Amino acid sequence: MKQKILLLSCCAPCSCAVIKTLAEEGADFSVVFYNPNIRPEAEYAKRMNENRRVCAQYNVPFIELEYDNERWCALTGGLENEPERGRRCDICFYMRLKRVMEYAAVNGFDAVASVLGVSRYKNLAQVNRMAYKASEETGVPYLEIEGRKGGMQELRSRLIKELRLYNQDYCGCKPRNGDSQ
Ligand code: SF4
Repeated sequence: MKQKILLLSCCAPCSCAVIKTLAEEGADFSVVFYNPNIRPEAEYAKRMNENRRVCAQYNVPFIELEYDNERWCALTGGLENEPERGRRCDICFYMRLKRVMEYAAVNGFDAVASVLGVSRYKNLAQVNRMAYKASEETGVPYLEIEGRKGGMQELRSRLIKELRLYNQDYCGCKPRNGDSQ
Protein backbone atom coordinates (compact mmCIF):
# COMPACT_ATOMS: atom_id res chain seq x y z
CA MET A 1 0.00 0.00 0.00
CA LYS A 2 1.18 3.52 -0.79
CA GLN A 3 2.33 5.77 2.04
CA LYS A 4 -0.05 8.57 2.90
CA ILE A 5 2.15 11.68 3.16
CA LEU A 6 1.49 15.05 4.74
CA LEU A 7 3.61 17.76 3.11
CA LEU A 8 4.30 20.88 5.17
CA SER A 9 4.47 23.89 2.89
CA CYS A 10 5.66 27.40 3.71
CA CYS A 11 4.49 29.04 0.49
CA ALA A 12 3.52 28.51 -3.13
CA PRO A 13 6.94 29.30 -4.69
CA CYS A 14 8.79 26.79 -2.47
CA SER A 15 6.20 24.05 -2.90
CA CYS A 16 4.96 24.32 -6.50
CA ALA A 17 7.60 22.08 -8.11
CA VAL A 18 7.33 19.44 -5.38
CA ILE A 19 3.51 19.44 -5.52
CA LYS A 20 3.46 19.11 -9.31
CA THR A 21 6.08 16.31 -9.24
CA LEU A 22 4.39 14.30 -6.49
CA ALA A 23 0.98 14.73 -8.14
CA GLU A 24 2.33 13.50 -11.47
CA GLU A 25 3.98 10.53 -9.76
CA GLY A 26 0.60 9.59 -8.30
CA ALA A 27 1.71 10.02 -4.70
CA ASP A 28 -0.95 9.88 -2.00
CA PHE A 29 -0.44 13.21 -0.27
CA SER A 30 -2.02 16.33 1.16
CA VAL A 31 -0.48 19.74 1.69
CA VAL A 32 -0.66 21.37 5.11
CA PHE A 33 -0.13 25.08 5.70
CA TYR A 34 1.06 25.75 9.23
CA ASN A 35 3.01 29.00 9.27
CA PRO A 36 2.31 31.15 12.32
CA ASN A 37 5.77 32.64 11.77
CA ILE A 38 4.52 34.80 8.89
CA ARG A 39 3.86 38.42 9.68
CA PRO A 40 1.84 40.53 9.25
CA GLU A 41 -1.37 38.50 9.10
CA ALA A 42 -2.34 39.98 5.73
CA GLU A 43 0.89 38.59 4.31
CA TYR A 44 0.08 35.21 5.87
CA ALA A 45 -3.35 35.23 4.17
CA LYS A 46 -1.83 36.15 0.82
CA ARG A 47 0.69 33.29 0.93
CA MET A 48 -1.93 30.85 2.19
CA ASN A 49 -4.29 31.70 -0.66
CA GLU A 50 -1.55 31.32 -3.24
CA ASN A 51 -0.62 27.93 -1.83
CA ARG A 52 -4.28 26.88 -1.89
CA ARG A 53 -4.43 27.94 -5.56
CA VAL A 54 -1.42 25.75 -6.47
CA CYS A 55 -3.02 22.75 -4.75
CA ALA A 56 -6.28 23.30 -6.62
CA GLN A 57 -4.31 23.41 -9.87
CA TYR A 58 -3.00 19.87 -9.26
CA ASN A 59 -6.04 18.49 -7.40
CA VAL A 60 -4.18 18.07 -4.13
CA PRO A 61 -6.02 18.39 -0.79
CA PHE A 62 -5.04 21.54 1.12
CA ILE A 63 -5.25 21.82 4.90
CA GLU A 64 -4.83 25.07 6.80
CA LEU A 65 -3.95 24.86 10.50
CA GLU A 66 -4.26 27.65 13.06
CA TYR A 67 -2.46 30.97 12.79
CA ASP A 68 -1.09 31.07 16.33
CA ASN A 69 1.45 33.85 15.93
CA GLU A 70 1.28 34.64 19.65
CA ARG A 71 2.62 31.18 20.48
CA TRP A 72 5.34 31.55 17.83
CA CYS A 73 6.38 34.90 19.37
CA ALA A 74 6.44 33.39 22.87
CA LEU A 75 8.65 30.50 21.73
CA THR A 76 11.11 32.69 19.84
CA GLY A 77 11.14 35.55 22.36
CA GLY A 78 14.63 36.88 23.03
CA LEU A 79 15.98 35.61 19.71
CA GLU A 80 14.78 38.53 17.61
CA ASN A 81 18.32 39.55 16.67
CA GLU A 82 19.44 36.11 15.54
CA PRO A 83 20.38 35.93 11.86
CA GLU A 84 18.40 33.85 9.41
CA ARG A 85 19.64 30.21 9.75
CA GLY A 86 20.37 30.89 13.43
CA ARG A 87 18.75 29.71 16.66
CA ARG A 88 15.39 31.42 16.02
CA CYS A 89 15.04 29.34 12.87
CA ASP A 90 15.79 26.15 14.85
CA ILE A 91 12.79 26.83 17.07
CA CYS A 92 10.60 27.98 14.17
CA PHE A 93 11.24 24.82 12.12
CA TYR A 94 10.85 22.56 15.13
CA MET A 95 7.57 24.16 16.25
CA ARG A 96 5.98 23.90 12.82
CA LEU A 97 7.20 20.38 12.05
CA LYS A 98 6.19 19.06 15.46
CA ARG A 99 2.67 20.49 15.22
CA VAL A 100 2.27 19.01 11.75
CA MET A 101 3.55 15.61 12.93
CA GLU A 102 1.05 15.66 15.78
CA TYR A 103 -1.69 16.46 13.28
CA ALA A 104 -0.46 13.65 11.01
CA ALA A 105 -0.54 11.14 13.87
CA VAL A 106 -4.22 11.71 14.64
CA ASN A 107 -5.34 12.07 11.04
CA GLY A 108 -4.11 8.84 9.48
CA PHE A 109 -0.93 9.99 7.73
CA ASP A 110 2.08 7.64 7.57
CA ALA A 111 4.83 10.25 7.26
CA VAL A 112 5.55 13.98 7.13
CA ALA A 113 7.68 15.73 4.51
CA SER A 114 8.36 19.43 4.08
CA VAL A 115 9.60 22.07 1.66
CA LEU A 116 11.00 24.29 4.42
CA GLY A 117 14.53 23.72 3.13
CA VAL A 118 13.87 24.30 -0.57
CA SER A 119 14.81 27.99 -0.72
CA ARG A 120 18.45 28.82 -1.38
CA TYR A 121 18.32 31.01 1.74
CA LYS A 122 17.67 27.99 3.92
CA ASN A 123 20.02 25.50 5.53
CA LEU A 124 18.53 22.15 4.56
CA ALA A 125 20.62 20.30 7.16
CA GLN A 126 19.15 22.56 9.84
CA VAL A 127 15.59 21.83 8.68
CA ASN A 128 16.29 18.09 8.62
CA ARG A 129 17.86 18.17 12.07
CA MET A 130 14.77 19.80 13.56
CA ALA A 131 12.48 17.45 11.62
CA TYR A 132 14.21 14.34 12.97
CA LYS A 133 14.03 15.74 16.50
CA ALA A 134 10.27 16.28 16.13
CA SER A 135 9.92 12.86 14.52
CA GLU A 136 11.67 11.16 17.42
CA GLU A 137 9.38 12.89 19.89
CA THR A 138 6.13 12.21 18.06
CA GLY A 139 6.91 8.80 16.54
CA VAL A 140 5.86 10.07 13.10
CA PRO A 141 8.39 9.25 10.34
CA TYR A 142 10.04 12.16 8.53
CA LEU A 143 10.48 11.75 4.81
CA GLU A 144 13.25 13.72 3.09
CA ILE A 145 12.17 14.83 -0.36
CA GLU A 146 14.14 16.46 -3.16
CA GLY A 147 13.21 20.05 -3.82
CA ARG A 148 16.47 21.54 -5.07
CA LYS A 149 18.43 19.17 -7.31
CA GLY A 150 17.56 17.17 -10.41
CA GLY A 151 15.91 20.06 -12.23
CA MET A 152 13.64 21.03 -9.34
CA GLN A 153 14.96 24.61 -9.10
CA GLU A 154 14.42 25.10 -12.82
CA LEU A 155 10.89 23.68 -12.57
CA ARG A 156 10.19 25.93 -9.64
CA SER A 157 11.30 29.04 -11.55
CA ARG A 158 9.23 28.02 -14.58
CA LEU A 159 6.09 27.41 -12.51
CA ILE A 160 6.43 30.71 -10.65
CA LYS A 161 6.23 32.42 -14.04
CA GLU A 162 3.60 30.16 -15.61
CA LEU A 163 1.23 30.28 -12.66
CA ARG A 164 2.07 33.94 -11.94
CA LEU A 165 2.74 33.11 -8.31
CA TYR A 166 3.21 35.78 -5.70
CA ASN A 167 6.90 35.48 -4.75
CA GLN A 168 7.64 37.26 -1.48
CA ASP A 169 10.99 38.84 -0.69
CA TYR A 170 11.40 37.63 2.90
CA CYS A 171 11.06 34.34 4.73
CA GLY A 172 8.31 35.13 7.18
CA CYS A 173 9.11 36.80 10.45
CA LYS A 174 10.84 39.92 9.23
CA PRO A 175 11.89 41.68 6.06
CA ARG A 176 15.13 40.65 4.46
CA ASN A 177 17.32 43.03 2.49
CA GLY A 178 17.78 41.87 -1.03
CA ASP A 179 16.05 39.74 -3.60
CA SER A 180 13.30 37.16 -3.35
CA GLN A 181 13.63 33.63 -2.05
S1 SF4 B 1 13.68 33.61 9.19
FE1 SF4 B 1 12.00 32.23 8.54
S2 SF4 B 1 12.54 30.20 9.36
FE2 SF4 B 1 13.77 31.73 10.46
S3 SF4 B 1 12.57 32.26 12.29
FE3 SF4 B 1 12.01 33.74 10.71
S4 SF4 B 1 10.19 32.86 9.71
FE4 SF4 B 1 11.18 31.21 10.85
